[in-house]
Amino acid sequence: MVDPSDLDELLRTLRRALREKVVALLAEMDERQELPESVRQLFVRLGLFALVVPEAYGGLGLNLTHLCRVIEEVATVDASLAVLVQAPATALRPLLLAGTPEQQARYFGEVASRGALFAFGLTEPQAGSDAASLVTRAERAGDGYILSGQKRFVTNGDIADYYVVFGRTGAGRGGISAFVIPAGAPGLSAGKHESKMGLRASPTTDLFLEGVRVLESARIGAEGEGFGLLTATFTTSRPTIAAQAVGLAQAALDAACAYALERRQFGRAIADFQGLRFLLADMATEIEAARALTYLASGEYDAGRPSPALAAMAKCFASDVAMRVATDAVQVFGGYGFLKDYGVERLMRDAKITQIYEGTNQIMRVIIARELLKKPGASPAAPGDGATA
Ligand SMILES: Cc1cc2nc3c(=O)[nH]c(=O)nc-3n(C[C@H](O)[C@H](O)[C@H](O)COP(=O)(O)OP(=O)(O)OC[C@H]3O[C@@H](n4cnc5c(N)ncnc54)[C@H](O)[C@@H]3O)c2cc1C
Repeated sequence: MVDPSDLDELLRTLRRALREKVVALLAEMDERQELPESVRQLFVRLGLFALVVPEAYGGLGLNLTHLCRVIEEVATVDASLAVLVQAPATALRPLLLAGTPEQQARYFGEVASRGALFAFGLTEPQAGSDAASLVTRAERAGDGYILSGQKRFVTNGDIADYYVVFGRTGAGRGGISAFVIPAGAPGLSAGKHESKMGLRASPTTDLFLEGVRVLESARIGAEGEGFGLLTATFTTSRPTIAAQAVGLAQAALDAACAYALERRQFGRAIADFQGLRFLLADMATEIEAARALTYLASGEYDAGRPSPALAAMAKCFASDVAMRVATDAVQVFGGYGFLKDYGVERLMRDAKITQIYEGTNQIMRVIIARELLKKPGASPAAPGDGATA
């Protein structure tokens, strides 16, 4: 376990370990859509699933800014690996926000001691952006609940040890509750690996709940508190997706600069052409702007001023930058950028998801506008402005 007081040491260790043990595997992981068990075990050893677990329970207890820095660092190597760190941090957040001392001791202890992996089950077939329309039932039964429904697109869906799942205990937003369910619970099963355009080393599956029985002690927070927990969780998770986007964009820029200096046409390095120099300059400028906004959002959260609007701005802006920068990096490589061997096409494919998950960028704009117009005398809510997922 890395000393939590020294983030720079953690980042250095991480950089070295990824370079030595993982970089050589990336192309094959992408091709085969596989996350090798050796990589998962490396992440356990580095304490990467316990980043947000408080030190009192044996975790690293990172604040949001430090979590973003770790995710940015991992994303400069690979976006799938960044989400391997990001997704459990998101799934653990409801327990951090509202878990009982017993829940925290049990689950955080398992994450810190054996690297238990948590997944987040919110999205459903008919409830994507409109998360509040979820229909997974959580019906009271004796000393607990019975859950039935289907979750879509669960990151780490078939390799997680625990699932934080949102279900309906009543009507409307106040009728959503959060539960933690162990893998292997009777009635719980994961679907097939989705075949994806990007983020291919990150397993994404359905999660089926067929009469899954849990005790009341599996509920996180009060009954009906789920939607509030969800929005509070997104205020922390969106900056981490922004950090993933910034890391990916930085990798694309670094690759583009190196190639531009090396590739020669018309008797000189292509980096000498102003057309490319301006492109690279714009890429660099946009990345710095995205990075600044990401750490503004995380810094405000850490200072006790959580802002859903800033979190949405950071996620939206940084992911749009990542998509643009990765596309431009392919352009700098010319025809070679289109070949798998050069790696930048993977960055372009991976960038796309950052504009979609943890709420699409349309929904980010809906949220930003809602927060902007919240002031007294503002116009009434627009359709879809409550969407959060
Ligand atoms: C690789 C991957 C991993 C994921 N991981 C997880 C996970 O771990 N856990 C989890 O719960 N979910 C996960 N998701 C789900 C993800 O968060 C959703 O896909 C996303 O929120 C969008 O929902 P949807 O796909 O149903 O799209 P829809 O909501 O159907 O949206 C379709 C289009 O309509 C637009 N739209 C919808 N409503 C509005 C509106 N009001 N205004 C303007 N435009 C609108 C959207 O922006 C989008 O362009 C993952 C998805 C993927 C692809």
